[in-house]
Amino acid sequence: MIRVTAIETGKARMKTAQRTGRPDRGPIGRKIDIFRDREWVEPLPILCFLIEHPEGRFLVDTGDTWRNSVPGYLPGWNPFYRQVSIRVAPEEEIGPRLRNMGLDPARDLAAVVLTHFHHDHTGGLDHFPHNRIIGPGENHAVSTGLRGMMMGCLPQRWPIWLKPELVQMDGPAIGSFPASHPLTRDGRIALVPTPGHVAGHCAVVVRDDDVTYFLAGDATYSQENLRAERTDGVTNDPSTALATLRAIKAFAGQQPTILLPAHDPDAARRLAAKEVLA
Ligand SMILES: [Zn+2]
Repeated sequence: MIRVTAIETGKARMKTAQRTGRPDRGPIGRKIDIFRDREWVEPLPILCFLIEHPEGRFLVDTGDTWRNSVPGYLPGWNPFYRQVSIRVAPEEEIGPRLRNMGLDPARDLAAVVLTHFHHDHTGGLDHFPHNRIIGPGENHAVSTGLRGMMMGCLPQRWPIWLKPELVQMDGPAIGSFPASHPLTRDGRIALVPTPGHVAGHCAVVVRDDDVTYFLAGDATYSQENLRAERTDGVTNDPSTALATLRAIKAFAGQQPTILLPAHDPDAARRLAAKEVLA
């Protein structure tokens, strides 16, 4: 028996040009479009997902932190951070959320899994000093130092104890994905490569008997955008991002799949209704 639960850890707002990039624009043009855009999308959830599996509980992503709105937390020299607005109250952070569910992060989680190292996925890491933290090695490599800071990561804010287990996609093919990294011995939970939003981005697939949950991270911001094959405005590699959208669609064509992106306002409803991507 496997159970997946969506946990909302506050809200994020972005420009419409970030949610959806113009297909005729390259990476630089898309960023210019975001700066010029005056339209913000509605506040989007910052979702983490708890997977309960016979081998333990796995948390996918950690959301952001209330400190994001404290002056000086974000690097002032990078104007990109002013194109995103994070609103997280202290009690909305993932630690208090888990405690409200009766879970002790230190005792009750087998591992914390990151889809990628953007700040709205790593900002809750402070709650997990005693946990295994697993993340994609290829994404971590582009998330550190100045390069990371220019690309939406805040390595200078990562906990000083952070030594993530960096994994490679060297496991078996799963559906339309040529490789994977199994997280459980039975292989029912696995990371699969979904690059494009950022290099080395991974999604988490959870294969239950009757349905597969596809925890997409930011591989797509919404099911609507996935269906229409619309890539986002922050990708540095639109063609790879598009290939990933097509791989996810192909995967969902092979097995009943519930798509769960990290910022999709409809994801929790689809999960509750067990509504598959058709
Ligand atoms: Zn991201």
